[in-house]
Amino acid sequence: MASRFARPIAVSVVLIALVAIGAISVMAEEPAVPVAAAASFSGARAMAHLEAIVAIGPRVSGSEGMRQQREMVVDHFRAAGATVTPQRFQIRDRKSGQGVAMENIVIGWHPDRQERILLGAHYDTRPFPDRDRDDPRGTFVGANDGASGVALLMELAGAMPGLEGPVGVDFVLFDGEEYVFGPRDPYFLGSTHFARQYAAGRKAGETTWSYRAGLVLDMVADADLAIFQESKSVSWPETRPVVDEVWDVARRMGVRQFIPRPGYEVEDDHVPLRNLGKIPTADIIDFNYPAWHTTRDTAAACSGESLEAVGSVVLQWLREQR
Ligand SMILES: [Zn+2]
Repeated sequence: MASRFARPIAVSVVLIALVAIGAISVMAEEPAVPVAAAASFSGARAMAHLEAIVAIGPRVSGSEGMRQQREMVVDHFRAAGATVTPQRFQIRDRKSGQGVAMENIVIGWHPDRQERILLGAHYDTRPFPDRDRDDPRGTFVGANDGASGVALLMELAGAMPGLEGPVGVDFVLFDGEEYVFGPRDPYFLGSTHFARQYAAGRKAGETTWSYRAGLVLDMVADADLAIFQESKSVSWPETRPVVDEVWDVARRMGVRQFIPRPGYEVEDDHVPLRNLGKIPTADIIDFNYPAWHTTRDTAAACSGESLEAVGSVVLQWLREQR
């Protein structure tokens, strides 16, 4: 499933991008860029992943749809060469009192590298499209709010085996980001559990590696994409440099969907990661999305071009880590 090989056109796109940012100079006699280094991010493939996820239907924590999605993504990342580790935990459903099995998935690349980057996305979907005026108890498939971050990471997997050091990368798929049935239900169950486990492991000296930085990818496929900086990420002194780096990469690559100023403040998985896990994590999110939490959050509202804009920037940011 994972495509590590680059088509000739992709190689030239990467070359142009590298030349544009001054990373390399053009030498006509130079042999082709090595395959691993040239592996690039395809919006078309990312969009195909998004459509495959959405085709499962709703993927609420603990549901059959979630189980199917988990099977699909675990197969995908294992085939791409990752070390896939489930992180299971239980919550109690506030209404029924029943236990609900939750599972974060940690997808590791270059596990030997002690300094690491976390790329997170929630992979559960909201139980109901409660902001939908006509059908608030209708079917919610979460194409942008749920599938987009997962699809982006599925496509990014192809470039990870060839990622040169020094940093290793963990993709973390969070369960229970919005297992929310009513106004009093807590959000971010998966990222909270993950952050607590990580902090405890660090404190006990059991976790020897550490996260240098993190990005949360949420709602990154809107066909009308404009990603402003998220205000919390900008306001925290230790995450501000991460924001600056990402938007600087976008500027140098000419990716105009990244708008270099704060546009909204969002509660998201980056909050527990930063506050509990002490991981400097920025939220990459386009929060101006009219279909948010409605039945209209479908693949039709998303585009591969948008996924490619974000995926290319994230990949280049990873490649520039020193
Ligand atoms: Zn949501």
